[in-house]
Amino acid sequence: MGKSYSSTTCIEQLTTLCSKGLIKEAFGRFKSDLWSDPSLFSHLLQACIPRKSLSLGKQLHSLIITSGCSSDKFVSNHLLNLYSKIGDLKSASTLFGHLPRRNIMSCNILINGFVQKGDLGCAQKVFDEMPERNVATWNAMVTGLVQFEYNEEGLGLFSEMHELGFSPDEFTLGSVLRGCAGLRGLSAGCEVHAYVVKCGFEFNLVVGSSLAHMYMKSGSLVDGEKVIKSMPIRNVVAWNTLIAGKAQNGQSEGVLDQYNMMKIAGFRPDKVTFVSVLSSCSELATLGQGQQIHAEAIKAGASSVVAVISTLISMYSRCGCLEDSLKAFRECEGADVVLWSSVISAYGFHGRGEEAIKLFEQMEQEGLEANDVTFLSLLYACSHCGMKEKGIELFDLMVQKYGLKPKLEHYTCVVDLLGRSGCLEEAEAMIRSMPVKADAIIWKTLLSACKIHKNADMARRIGQDVLRQDPEDSASYVLLSNIHASARRWQDVSEVRTAMRDRKVKKEPGISWLEIKNKVYQFRMGENCLPQYMAIDLYLKELRSEMKLHGYVPDTGSVLHDMDNEEKEYDLAHHSEKLAIAFALINTPEGVPVRVMKNLRVCIDCHVAIKYISQIKNREIIVRDASRFHHFKHGKCSCGDYW
Ligand code: ZN
Ligand code: ZN
Repeated sequence: MGKSYSSTTCIEQLTTLCSKGLIKEAFGRFKSDLWSDPSLFSHLLQACIPRKSLSLGKQLHSLIITSGCSSDKFVSNHLLNLYSKIGDLKSASTLFGHLPRRNIMSCNILINGFVQKGDLGCAQKVFDEMPERNVATWNAMVTGLVQFEYNEEGLGLFSEMHELGFSPDEFTLGSVLRGCAGLRGLSAGCEVHAYVVKCGFEFNLVVGSSLAHMYMKSGSLVDGEKVIKSMPIRNVVAWNTLIAGKAQNGQSEGVLDQYNMMKIAGFRPDKVTFVSVLSSCSELATLGQGQQIHAEAIKAGASSVVAVISTLISMYSRCGCLEDSLKAFRECEGADVVLWSSVISAYGFHGRGEEAIKLFEQMEQEGLEANDVTFLSLLYACSHCGMKEKGIELFDLMVQKYGLKPKLEHYTCVVDLLGRSGCLEEAEAMIRSMPVKADAIIWKTLLSACKIHKNADMARRIGQDVLRQDPEDSASYVLLSNIHASARRWQDVSEVRTAMRDRKVKKEPGISWLEIKNKVYQFRMGENCLPQYMAIDLYLKELRSEMKLHGYVPDTGSVLHDMDNEEKEYDLAHHSEKLAIAFALINTPEGVPVRVMKNLRVCIDCHVAIKYISQIKNREIIVRDASRFHHFKHGKCSCGDYW
């Protein structure tokens, strides 16, 4: 009794020393027969995993050999596990090759090691050569395939496993459902759901959350919610699944409700929760709420996580507070390429191209290597500032110096860049010759450029391409019709309108919103049940006369409907962003900047009108539309009429 107690204490002390890397000290202090006990090494090896130190592993390895414990199967599996976890698959494979007796356990360890390294080929080889497998073996392989988005292969392996008579556990089912989510395969997902119910895993926490995630990722939010609501107990993962599902399906208001309910239910939000909730604040541009969640993230100790900081940078930028974006970035020590890209993108979004490029240069000086996301942010910044030469230079740098393959998004930025600066032919040539397949967005980008440069001939030619790619997109019809209208091609205008009517395409309604004292107010054209509608209407009427005195002329040319001029003017005057701005001017004290968000692009008339309003009322007005930020001040806009 006494002896075993003392040897346990010895093992504990030795383990502590070794896990601190003090092997020599340990060896010097305990020169007893302990060193020939295999169970000691099993302990030591396990204790050393968190240190992830290869030299420590190698030292232990040679000790094991000299002590004669290397033929013990537990010791060798622990050693194999240590090498795998550290990521030294070469040493792991050599050791595996010399094992006198390999068992399922050793093979599973090696497969997991290869999977973690992303070397699925080697993992598969070990898997194929195994004479015998268990559920953990299948799990390792299925999880690995799904993790690297070989979803179909993962599901295929699952069927094979099932046919061979293995019963899946919660981890298998979790991976399989993630595979279905990755494929957005609702029918495969439903089959697995039925199977889950049959096996009785319906109320399992891991499986339940994966099931909900699968539904939500496939766009079926209601079914996902049903699964979560039927779970007898929920954990943080289940709450996060629900919150992220709402965020991804565009139900930003629902996100905040669920977040509050989660806290009421006694759960502490974690970094995953904060990323989802902050993204929703960013989507809704609810600055007040965003600041509150930021404070809560600090309190929860999640504000130094890269993903959270990156979301904060983008949230502040999208709420119109570029300074706070920069502050969130500066407060973080040792920013990585993700954060640099986020802050570069924030500057681009606000049309501050020069500064975005300066940041990029600083990033290079700090020895960080830009990736395709960084270049996308840079190209975006250039295209929004009309910096054509610089943009083309960066595109070449990306391809030639960095050896990165441009994606469709990069080409879209360059087409935008060329198009805005009037090089329409070049832009079209680029679309027709690029190695990736063109989508509706890139064609629409060129179409917008045709509008800016009044090239109705090209618009007519490429209009077909645009409408073929996305016949449901109302914005393209409106754009095309406007181009023809300003070139006075009434025949073309009526053709576009007929096509739109025939295909039953509805114009997406314009919605503007703003936040005052943490409350969000929404405005739509023609909705006169708003609070203070009468006051807004009157205010706009007075404002309009004052604007006209300053030289404002309503641009009725961009109104699509068939109506007389007076009606058109009334219509224009009640665009949602004008309603929102009037509401803000009535309800906020002088000198406070007005921040308004819009789901579509600001129309030409509103853009002109807001310039006058900013001057007459001496207010800074910040409008975020579908494509960028407009900072209106003293009768000018930061976009330089490029949008
Ligand atoms: Zn408008
Ligand atoms: Zn503007």
